[in-house]
Amino acid sequence: MFDQNRIDALRDAPIPPAQHLIDGQSCPASDGGIMEVLSPLNGKVLTTIAQGTAADVEAATQAARRAFDDGRWSGLAPAARKAVLLKWAALIEENALELAVIGVRDNGTEIGMALKAEPLSAAGTIRYYAEAIDKITGEIAPTAPGTLGLVHREPVGVVGAIVPWNFPLMIGAWKLAPALAAGNSVVLKPAETASLTLLRMAQLGLDAGLPPGVLNVVTGLGAVVGEVLALSMEVDVLVFTGSGTTGRRLLEYSARSNLKRVYLELGGKSPNIVFADAPDLAEAVKTSAAGIFRNAGQVCVAGSRLLVERSIHDQFVAELTAYMKTMPVGDPLNPATAAGAVNSLRQLEQNLQFVEEARAQGHAITGGARILEGTGGYFMEPTLVTGVSPSDRIAQDEVFGPVLAVIPFDTEEEAIRIANGTDYGLAAAVWTSDLLRAHRMVRAIKAGIVHVNTYGGSDITVPLGGVKQSGNGHDKSLHALDKYLDLKTAWIKL
Ligand code: NAD
Repeated sequence: MFDQNRIDALRDAPIPPAQHLIDGQSCPASDGGIMEVLSPLNGKVLTTIAQGTAADVEAATQAARRAFDDGRWSGLAPAARKAVLLKWAALIEENALELAVIGVRDNGTEIGMALKAEPLSAAGTIRYYAEAIDKITGEIAPTAPGTLGLVHREPVGVVGAIVPWNFPLMIGAWKLAPALAAGNSVVLKPAETASLTLLRMAQLGLDAGLPPGVLNVVTGLGAVVGEVLALSMEVDVLVFTGSGTTGRRLLEYSARSNLKRVYLELGGKSPNIVFADAPDLAEAVKTSAAGIFRNAGQVCVAGSRLLVERSIHDQFVAELTAYMKTMPVGDPLNPATAAGAVNSLRQLEQNLQFVEEARAQGHAITGGARILEGTGGYFMEPTLVTGVSPSDRIAQDEVFGPVLAVIPFDTEEEAIRIANGTDYGLAAAVWTSDLLRAHRMVRAIKAGIVHVNTYGGSDITVPLGGVKQSGNGHDKSLHALDKYLDLKTAWIKL
């Protein structure tokens, strides 16, 4: 699968201009508008995508509605949908390396991680929901004699999905696979800076046998395509991964239109808590670094706050600083690279601004600079900010970059208080040899996932979702299907 010669051959291969995918057809924007796609590897134009209009979104939602209502997909036996989805997963795997390289050139993730976390993860997710869907049954309720209560599970209708740029295929598949397996039709809006692989993956879905109109992709600006999709009267459910700012808008759009259900997967400021009795401090150093610096920190569950017990704080920071300096940053198509490019110049500038503000407040900074500027790419040093108080902005706001804020603590209670002391609640980790403490911490920390003696990682069998302002609803696992299946009761007098 991992063929460096092929990766090098694909590195500069031209990428044709991309268009929407509406009603089974590749088509331009209604007014012919296009947007340039800049590669974060060198700042050069990679290709163009269609800049969608309100009319394009309307065409896509109408196509999705027609497809849903005439039953070309929603009316199939679950086993028939499963067969198409399994074929789709196989096609994605066949094209995995090409998809991964296009994705890296588009969004900057390291190739090793991109291959696993993007096409291969997406194929696995599609296979998981394909295999699940013909095992989901309705219910017979325990009603009184003389009555029969049946509970049916039905697809909801048209699903709007809006996704971010950090892991477009993985996150896209978390929405598309359960929605489509359940029999819904979908209109997908990728991020402006990561549309290319999602368009290709959707085309592979059509090649596998998804009927026209069942999966539509409209590219373009969030403020146009995303907003019109979220306001659409044809969309029954809106699923979203992205920033809290956009999430708030989507709730408003729902209220202003048809009260569509809105499920939000938002950001985090996840605490990674290292107690002095961590079983393996060297492992904790390495994994904590990977947990914030991989993909240049552009990971929703990134462990961006490091809480270290004071007795080991200085030693831990010294080892982490030494380790960080050994992490190769740069060309994400080089398999030795540990941290690739920041997705866009805008995001890079935002990261640097956070660092400057922390510096101005007197915090000690290791790293913190743009590097490899001569390449034209958007690269940033892994950055450590020490001397941080829990209430400082760098400890409260999501940077979404390779920036780690370190906070010392003295007691378990204090660690819990600091861990829970932000608006977010997405992920966390606890490093300790004390089994009882580990369980206490898992219960006390407000987050969708708490890792113990590791950071990051999980698989499709477990849910991912936030609490507090990190969102609602869950992606992954069988629970995700609940968003895409309505319950309907039949009450029958016998
Ligand atoms: P973003 O909110 O700017 O954009 C996400 C998507 O929303 C994009 O497709 C964008 O075009 C669209 N959008 C923007 N404005 C819109 C509007 N007014 N109406 C409708 N759609 C609009 O977020 P981003 O910068 O692309 O992604 C980074 C954020 O995503 C971070 O906060 C990160 O933590 C979060 N994230 C969360 C998870 C999770 O699972 N919880 C996973 C990955 C990323």
